[in-house]
Amino acid sequence: MNNQEIDPRFPILIADDDPVTRKLLEKTLTKEGHQVVCARNGSEALELFTEIFFPIVLTDWMMPEMNGLDLCRAIRGTKTPGYVFVVLLTAKDSKDDIITGLEAGADDYLTKPFNYAELIARIKTGIRILELERSLKIAYEEIRILSITDPLTGCYNRGYLIKHLPKELMRARRHGRPLSIILCDIDHFKEVNDTYGHHAGDEVLKAFVKCLKAQGQENGNWISRYGGEEFLIVLPDANTNRAAFLAEQFRTNLAKVVVRVNQKPVKITASFGVTGFGPDTNPELISAGTLINKADAHLYEAKQAGRNQTSAGDL
Ligand code: GH3
Ligand code: MG
Ligand code: MG
Repeated sequence: MNNQEIDPRFPILIADDDPVTRKLLEKTLTKEGHQVVCARNGSEALELFTEIFFPIVLTDWMMPEMNGLDLCRAIRGTKTPGYVFVVLLTAKDSKDDIITGLEAGADDYLTKPFNYAELIARIKTGIRILELERSLKIAYEEIRILSITDPLTGCYNRGYLIKHLPKELMRARRHGRPLSIILCDIDHFKEVNDTYGHHAGDEVLKAFVKCLKAQGQENGNWISRYGGEEFLIVLPDANTNRAAFLAEQFRTNLAKVVVRVNQKPVKITASFGVTGFGPDTNPELISAGTLINKADAHLYEAKQAGRNQTSAGDL
């Protein structure tokens, strides 16, 4: 028994037809704190590999059924959730053999009989690469989220809207489903800024989006910041009537929201322009641009009619 902690992040798959080598490898690497799974040949290893993701694979070259080179090639041809560091263990040590091994997809090789300290050192090199890959992935994901998010309110930004609204339209049309949008604009928002200051205005914007999110995120609905105090809600699968009903719900819920700024209560209202299409709508009319223009025209109507109201109509 060893009492070293096992690092579950980098389990190792060993493929070797020689039981003595297998046992020795397993023992040494387990002692090093790795989770180790052994296979007796390439095809057994590949079977295991397709069920469980192993970021590190040590494989013998010559094995029955499937050799190490074919295993390398199969691993490289498989879509994996992360990089796989493959070390080829082989008695073949000519330059040509080494080149063949690396060309088959191995990252490194060790010639048998190998030194265990060297093997462990080479696995550590692999782990450094895998850790680098993982930290890059995390950084990439953080940047991706930042690039589609409005930093103030946390809803999607306009860039996301421009890219994804056309996709939503195509999906709705492909499936013969309706789709609607709600364009909302806070009433007299400039007065909030003028009366309470820009910071208070920011707090009001955050509270506004929180209110929209509280009830608006059903059935794949999503919210994006269209401009300053204008937000666009996309409702896949909702027809114009349903979207108008939801807009009215937003409006009445908003009436209950009181934002506290420097201990002072601030109340706001908003106007809503709604439009949508269904399977019977003339496809030539359907585009992100026509949809937004139509919603904007209804928003204008709601503003003209006195604000704090909803105006809706089919595309
Ligand atoms: P209306 O009822 O016609 O919509 O009037 P309004 O005052 O809401 O509209 P207007 O377009 O005149 O003013 C919008 C204001 O929103 C002006 C701008 O300074 C403010 N604004 C835009 N983005 C932000 C922001 O991120 N934070 C704050 N605090 N204010 C913003
Ligand atoms: Mg406004
Ligand atoms: Mg505006």
